[in-house]
Amino acid sequence: MARYGMIIDVDKCNGCYNCFLACKDEYDGNDYPPISFAQTASGKPWMQIIEKERGTWPKVKMEFIPLPCLHCEEALCVRKASDGEVYRRPDGIVLIDPEKSKGKREIVSTCPYRVISWNEEKGIPQKCTFCAHLLDQGWKQPRCVEACPSGALVFGDLDDPESEISGKIGSGNMEEFHPEYGLKPNVRYMNLPKRFIAGEVVLKDRQDQCAEGVTVVLKAGGGDQICRTDFLGDFEFEGLESDRAYTIVVEHEGYEKRELSVKPGRDMNLGEILLERAG
Ligand code: SF4
Ligand code: SF4
Repeated sequence: MARYGMIIDVDKCNGCYNCFLACKDEYDGNDYPPISFAQTASGKPWMQIIEKERGTWPKVKMEFIPLPCLHCEEALCVRKASDGEVYRRPDGIVLIDPEKSKGKREIVSTCPYRVISWNEEKGIPQKCTFCAHLLDQGWKQPRCVEACPSGALVFGDLDDPESEISGKIGSGNMEEFHPEYGLKPNVRYMNLPKRFIAGEVVLKDRQDQCAEGVTVVLKAGGGDQICRTDFLGDFEFEGLESDRAYTIVVEHEGYEKRELSVKPGRDMNLGEILLERAG
């Protein structure tokens, strides 16, 4: 028996919404009893894409975080279901019984990830099923994974050591979305956005030229990161922790060294860092 899971690599997601559309295509107007009843056209999607704008102008980035049901091992929705209307199959898929859950609006608020929607027309709570009706017919992956053009979604058997998903998990770098909820989700993430620090180096006596190739070091008490400014004189460090203190050291031959202490509680643009001629 497989134990299904998914990995979502946020770095590979370009926000194309193909997964969202494939999910709508599969479920809008289509009943798959006893697994699910049809979605409404305008209801909350079962595959949400969280759009996150990061930084401040001119150092701004967009991130897209796909969010289906995370099919948690310690699912709160299952624990709070009074009569087995939300259940976990032996293959790990968490389902809401569309018959048993009729009229039970309170199920919507059992999920801290807020991935359960309320179908006003049918009076039932609904969410992603990992396309269980297709897997039961022999499909290898849900429609969203099949539709993703960038490989951001990987689906498979967590217990099969030969599966792609097991290989990725073995490579490390896995993260839980909101680990503080403690629900042990079987949808795990890679490259969830953290904090970045960016800036621009300017040589005071050559302000008409971009300061390309200046050394910028990020010191974090072990494991320094080093980069060089690009052709615009810009630099950036990504994936930083918001509660950690860092020191940025800017060095260029013939110029005074600059050191700045930063704690990136938010994505930071340090702006222009001016280097004075030495001596
Ligand atoms: Fe239940 Fe929410 Fe976990 Fe899905 S993400 S299994 S709805 S607690
Ligand atoms: Fe991201 Fe893939 Fe979904 Fe497009 S289909 S939004 S790349 S996860």
